[in-house]
Amino acid sequence: MERFTGQFTQQEPIPEEAVAAALRVLQSGRLHRYNTLGEEVAETALLEEEFAAYTGAAYCLAVASGGYALATALRAVGVTPGDPVLTNAFTLAPVPGSIAAVGARPVFVEVTQDLVIDLDDLAAKLDRAKVLMLSHMRGHICDMDRLMALCDAAGVTVVEDCAHTMGAHWGDVPSGRHGAVGCYSTQTYKHINSGEGGLMVTDDPEVAARSILLSGSYMLYDRHRAAPGPEAFDGLRLRTPNISGRMDNLRAAILRPQLARLPEQARRWNALYHVVAGGLQGVPGIYLPRRPQAERYVASSIQFLLPGWEPGAVRAVVDGCAARGVELKWFGRPEPHGFTSRYSSWVYAAPEAQPRTDAVLDGLLDMRLPLTFSEDDCAVIARIVGDEVRKAA
Ligand SMILES: *Cc1c(COP(=O)(O)O)cnc(C)c1O
Repeated sequence: MERFTGQFTQQEPIPEEAVAAALRVLQSGRLHRYNTLGEEVAETALLEEEFAAYTGAAYCLAVASGGYALATALRAVGVTPGDPVLTNAFTLAPVPGSIAAVGARPVFVEVTQDLVIDLDDLAAKLDRAKVLMLSHMRGHICDMDRLMALCDAAGVTVVEDCAHTMGAHWGDVPSGRHGAVGCYSTQTYKHINSGEGGLMVTDDPEVAARSILLSGSYMLYDRHRAAPGPEAFDGLRLRTPNISGRMDNLRAAILRPQLARLPEQARRWNALYHVVAGGLQGVPGIYLPRRPQAERYVASSIQFLLPGWEPGAVRAVVDGCAARGVELKWFGRPEPHGFTSRYSSWVYAAPEAQPRTDAVLDGLLDMRLPLTFSEDDCAVIARIVGDEVRKAA
């Protein structure tokens, strides 16, 4: 029987150029973003300038994590304790966590079997909140034109969680550029890797200024380059708390060369994805989420559904694949396991039942596709999964 021996959690090494840049920062000793000499421009400020250009945003701020970016975006658009915030019922724990971090209350919206927010359910719930935290979970992007039309008409501000869509687009618009703020993660398992880290982009000078002050700028905001002018800070500088969460120059130094390589990495991820998706296409019982033409995704992972399957049969697929070296994450697992992604396990948020999402999650399987895999590896993985699904069917 064919077995797979690769590691689903093994990322590529940090590129040489990034290692060299990190060494220069370490040798300088100036790791803090505001520790600059004379006319020196910090790596962090350069990263922000480059990421703003990459996404076409007016402003960018680098922060300590993706979750910090999300919470900062909520604060910056005016969410206050007790406010309801709409968000997808299928997302990762730091998303409702960021809502809880500002004392607000997640209000979950159903997702479809294509793993995007259910726009009909959203339309029905838009009168319940002023802000939507939209999570492009696992890189699936909903019809952004329709979503923005709905939210604009209802006066709902959109904050985008782009932890899985850095480098992706809806049509010609980079992911993160439809809403008021786009938030990204540079954590090891995302599209560029600094261990931990986050980025946020916006065109709104007040949101940008407030975010910079919130991140802990010690009135040194004039050292930012992807920031609004001093006038944007005038009314805010003494009224905005410092909720420290800056990025440092070491992380920024290793991210800049990775950002330059992102388009090429995206092509490589999609090539791996197409091998696995091609192998699973047509296996009886498997549903592959549809991906509309306008969705220009970066498939650093793949999902498929076994809709309507009994839990025992899904478990048999998971166990059968695991025995052959293929790690599947099952979102329908009754008890949270590893990275929890089932809304019902976020008890602090007192979640209302989302029956359509439950039906989706019950049969949802997920797999990372690290770039340390080859296309041949992906063909082996697809054969093993296909085999085990046929066996359990
Ligand atoms: C990783 C992740 C985040 C948060 O990023 P961190 O940098 O780990 O804080 C937010 N949303 C989703 C969907 C994620 O997967």
